[in-house]
Amino acid sequence: MNRRIVDAHAHVFPDELAARAIKQLIGNSGETAFTDGTAAGLKRSMEQHGIAVSVTLPVSTRAKQTQPINAFSIEALGDERLVPFGTIHPEYAGYAGEIARLKEAGVKGVKFHPDYQSFFVDEERMFPIYQALSDAGLIVLFHAGVDIGLKPPYHCLPEKLARVLDAFPSMIVVAAHFGGFQMWDDVDRHLVGRNLYLETSFTLSWLEPSKFTDMARRHGIERVLFGTDSPWADQGREIELVSRSGLTEDELGKVFAANADRLLGLAA
Ligand SMILES: [Zn+2]
Repeated sequence: MNRRIVDAHAHVFPDELAARAIKQLIGNSGETAFTDGTAAGLKRSMEQHGIAVSVTLPVSTRAKQTQPINAFSIEALGDERLVPFGTIHPEYAGYAGEIARLKEAGVKGVKFHPDYQSFFVDEERMFPIYQALSDAGLIVLFHAGVDIGLKPPYHCLPEKLARVLDAFPSMIVVAAHFGGFQMWDDVDRHLVGRNLYLETSFTLSWLEPSKFTDMARRHGIERVLFGTDSPWADQGREIELVSRSGLTEDELGKVFAANADRLLGLAA
C-alpha cells in the first residue's frame, strides 16, 4: 500500500539529551518508548512504517527554556521529513519577540502542554499570547484531556478549550488526542463541529472505532489529523488502528495526509 502519511504529533529531543529525556519521561508514566528519542530514531521509525513527514512537538516546562528549545526547532528546519514546532512558556515575558522570531524563521506552529506548563487553557493570562499567535497565523496545538503520567486537575478540558475558541475565533487550533484523552463524551459535547482540528494520537487504543468514526464525520473529516505521539506510541500500530477504524478510503486519504498537507502548506 502506497498511501501518503503525515504524522501530526511526534517528539524528538536534542541528541545529547535524548537518552536522559526518555528515561525521565518514562519514569513519570510507566510507558514504553518506541524510538530512542532522536531525530534519526524518529526517521528510522518513519522509514519502517511509510510515513512521509512528522511534525515534532517540543515542550518548555520553565520560562528560560523557551529560547533554547526554539533555537533547536529553528535549526531543525529544512529537513523535508520533519516539521518542527516551537514553544512558548506561559511565563516567558518576551513571548512577542519570540513569536515573531519563530514566524520569520518559518516555524509553522507552537505546542502547549497545559499540564506540564501549569496553566489552565482558558486562563486570561494566556490571552495576550493567544492573540499574538493568532495574529501571526501560527498553528497552536494543545495537549488535551487526561495526561496518563499526571494526577488531576487536568488543564485542557474540552469545555475550557471551547471557551478559548469562542475568544479567539481566528486562531488555528489543533487539539491532540482527539480533543481530550479519555474525555471523549465532553469532546462530543463541546468541541465536535467547532473550528479546530482534532488529532488522533492515543485515541483508538481507547475509544470504540464506531464512536470515533461517528464523531470524526460529525466534526468534519477535513479537520481530523492523523497523529501518533511517537515515541510514546508505535507509529505502525497507530496507522493500523486508524486504517481499520471504519473510515472510507477517501476519508483515510484526508486524515492521513491531505488535511495535514493543506494545514502545514506541504507540497504532497
Ligand atoms: Zn505528545
